[in-house]
Amino acid sequence: MIQKGSRRITRRTVLAGAVLSIATRNLAGSGLDPVRLKIGGGEIDVQFGAGAFDVGRDGITNWISDAAKAVTTYYGHFPVPQAVVEVAPLANKSGVFGGVTYNSLPARTNIEVGERTSETALKDDWTMTHEMVHLGFPNMPRRHHWIEEGIATYVEPIGRAQAGTLRVEKVWADMFHDMPKGEPGPGSRGLDQTHNWATTYWGGALFCLFADVQFRERTGNRRGLQDALRGILDEGGNINADWPIERAFQAGDKAAGAPVLTELYAKAKDTPFSIDLPTLWRRLGISASGGSVSLSPDAELATIRAAITAKPI
Ligand SMILES: [Zn+2]
Repeated sequence: MIQKGSRRITRRTVLAGAVLSIATRNLAGSGLDPVRLKIGGGEIDVQFGAGAFDVGRDGITNWISDAAKAVTTYYGHFPVPQAVVEVAPLANKSGVFGGVTYNSLPARTNIEVGERTSETALKDDWTMTHEMVHLGFPNMPRRHHWIEEGIATYVEPIGRAQAGTLRVEKVWADMFHDMPKGEPGPGSRGLDQTHNWATTYWGGALFCLFADVQFRERTGNRRGLQDALRGILDEGGNINADWPIERAFQAGDKAAGAPVLTELYAKAKDTPFSIDLPTLWRRLGISASGGSVSLSPDAELATIRAAITAKPI
C-alpha cells in the first residue's frame, strides 16, 4: 500500500544531495551494486538494502521485471526513461509490505519485502505493478490524489492480465468484490472533497472503470481509458510533470476521442456520484459464482469487457 500524500517528496522539496545521500546509504548498507533492468525503453536501477532473500536477488529482480513488463504492455513503453527501485529486506518476514513512489528525478520507488517471501507470493503480488503505474500519470495537487490512486488501482490488474501474468477471471472477480467500496458513503462530498481510503483508492478506481466503459460505448469499442492514458503520457504527462487535473483529462479525452473524463469529473468532483454497479456488472456479463465470478459471452457489453483486458495490438 502506498502512502504518497504526506511522505511524498515533491519536486519542489527534493534536493539532489538528499537523494544522493539516500542512495549512498543504502548501497553502503548492502555492499551490493545496483542491478540495471532495461524494459520497454526504460532503465530501472534496482538497489538492495542489506539482507538475504530466500528467492535470491534474481527472484526479486524477476518480480520487478514482471511489473515493468505489465506497465510496458499497458502503456506501450515504460512510462519514464529512468527509475530507481530501492528494495528494503525485512528479516524473518514473508510478503510485500507497502511501497511508496516519489516524483524525484529519476523517479524512485521504495518497497519493503520480507526475506522469507516465496516466489509464489511474489507472483501473486500487486504492489510493484501498482507503484510503477504511478510513473505514468502527472503529479497532481493533494486534493486530486484519488485519480493517482484510482488509476494505479484500476490499471494494475489489467496491465498484468494483458501481459499474461494474471488471469482475466481474477481481474473481474477482484473488481466485482472491491469496487463497491468506492461508492459514495453517507458523508461523501465528491472525489475532490472526500479524502478517506475507500474513496481515494476505490472511488478513483470506480471512476476509471466507468470512464473506460463510457469511452468504449461512445467510440464503438474502438478506444478506451488505455488510449486516454497513453495519450496523456505521450504529451509528457508522467510523474515528473506537475499538471492541473483538467489538462490531463483534456489530453486523455482528445486521445480517446470523446470528452468522457472531463464530463465525468465535472459530475463527480464536488458531489457524490454513485454508479449503478449491479446494472454495470449485468451489462458487462459479470456475475457472482461461488467465491469467484462467471463471465458471460452473450452479455450486452461482453465485447467491451473482453477488449479491456485484451493484449494491445
Ligand atoms: Zn498508489
